[in-house]
Amino acid sequence: METLVRGAAVALVAAIGYGFCTQGDFKDQCQAALGDARTTINDLFAGFEAWQIMGLTVCGCIVLDFIINLFFGHEESLFTRTKKGVFRCARKIPLVQRMVEKELSKTRADFEKSLLHKHAHPNGITAMPKEGRKWDDLEKLLQEYAKIGDPDKRREEGKVSGTIYVGDDDVDTYTDMISKTYAMFAWTNPLHPGVFPGVRQMEAEVVRMVCDIFNGGPTACGSVTSGGTESILLACKSYRDYYHSVRGITNPNIVTCTTAHPAFDKACQYLGIHIRKIPMDPKTCRARPSAMRRHIDSNTIALVGSCPQYPHGCVDPIEELAAIAKSYGIGLHVDCCLGSFVVPFMRKAGFDFPSFDFTVDGVTSISADTHKFGYAPKGSSVVMYSFHELHHAQYSMFPDWPGGVYGTPTIAGSRSGALVAATWAALVHHGEDGYVKCTQKIIKAAREIAEGIKKIPGLRLMCEPDGPVVSWTSDVFDVYRMTHGLIEEHGWDLNVLQFPPSIHICVTLAHTREGIVESFLNDMAKVAAPLFANPGVKAEGGAAVYGMAQSIPDRTIIEDVVKTYLDTTYLVPA
Ligand SMILES: *Cc1c(COP(=O)(O)O)cnc(C)c1O
Repeated sequence: METLVRGAAVALVAAIGYGFCTQGDFKDQCQAALGDARTTINDLFAGFEAWQIMGLTVCGCIVLDFIINLFFGHEESLFTRTKKGVFRCARKIPLVQRMVEKELSKTRADFEKSLLHKHAHPNGITAMPKEGRKWDDLEKLLQEYAKIGDPDKRREEGKVSGTIYVGDDDVDTYTDMISKTYAMFAWTNPLHPGVFPGVRQMEAEVVRMVCDIFNGGPTACGSVTSGGTESILLACKSYRDYYHSVRGITNPNIVTCTTAHPAFDKACQYLGIHIRKIPMDPKTCRARPSAMRRHIDSNTIALVGSCPQYPHGCVDPIEELAAIAKSYGIGLHVDCCLGSFVVPFMRKAGFDFPSFDFTVDGVTSISADTHKFGYAPKGSSVVMYSFHELHHAQYSMFPDWPGGVYGTPTIAGSRSGALVAATWAALVHHGEDGYVKCTQKIIKAAREIAEGIKKIPGLRLMCEPDGPVVSWTSDVFDVYRMTHGLIEEHGWDLNVLQFPPSIHICVTLAHTREGIVESFLNDMAKVAAPLFANPGVKAEGGAAVYGMAQSIPDRTIIEDVVKTYLDTTYLVPA
């Protein structure tokens, strides 16, 4: 809108200017019109003194600026901003303040109970120990910390959605191999390729292997990063700096679907890019290319599609998005962070799958997390580009530093070569056949879960699962009422979704072991049956909190809750 108004103004001025220069008649007419206008304005201000006219002009400008500011150049609509303003004022009222404070302190107590009291080492360390400990002592202590909350047991029982991606029958041998690799390269730093040439080569080989499975052409390139969030942040930086240099865009925006990962919001926050989030298609949970196209303007640098998206696990229509991106000459980032090492192998594993990688003309960058379905330890991901200039826009270069000419490809300066080596080991150990086998097992389990859910009365899949994530809701009862039974009673660690209320499980190798799918579906049926029989009952406890978190119109309260939660994660029990 703002661009449109500006464009129209420029066009008008240009037209008038053109008229002046070329047409004698037009010039005379304009001069006559200006003469009339002069008389009219002079008559209008005849009774005023000079200081009054000056004052009016200044005030007029201020008011005009205020009005323009009110409507244009904001991320949020006037309505949303008014709503927020009202809530901000309301929260200044002492009574409201006390009520919010009371609720927040209750929430804080709940967080402390679940994060600290239930699961914490009783002798927390709150200051530097005066005397260091020997290994025997330290090892015992480490084992105690490792046991808290029993994450290994929960993984073995296949109770955790996503999070720990390894976990089939060979997990112990695999862990041993990755640990040995890590130890071998523990003190390496890829910042110094001259000192660690082996690590340099392994990193280059990781990029080549990942570009290969995503069908990158001869110009495909990329970097190993610390995780999906960094891969996405770097892709956004690359688009920002590339389109600044080739098109002079100084006020960039990207267009995504609301289901895209928050890493894009975070990237835009850090990088000063506007993010335009377009609601998903409520029936298919996929991005709507035509709606996204309507939000493209001359400052748009890229579109984003996910393969699959995290909340519901379905794949956005990448081919359609790519065609749009190409026609506007902008980028398309395909977020395969979650899909990582499952989606490239779907067809080889015998499943139908849409095209999504560099074979699709218009796809200019892809992020893929080696630390998810690549089975590398946490702290590694790969960002890829279809041509070198984008990758160059990712680099940071400082030729004038007194410490020497400095340049890095990613956010980090020093970083762990052990993670590069462990990622390399994960890829070379699995090879294509290894990843195809894992994909077969995971997708088989995910489809069994989806088919099972379809048979449970009262439940409905959010969408047919394209990949490892299965999401469901209920049209009969409040689906959040399932969280008590599933999460608290049966111990499943699931992901609770909002807008609309739904739940998902991200199937990993841990769920492919004998009997896990059956036990999950059994628990699902057991939990759903009484809710289906009594659909009208109101949600209580945790389930009510999920519902409330979604229905509170003042989102700053939810931000306070998140702040409280994050603060709690830094507490050490005294
Ligand atoms: C996990 C994930 C990311 C990146 O998250 P990290 O935790 O930083 O690795 C991005 N997009 C999707 C869809 C994801 O699932």
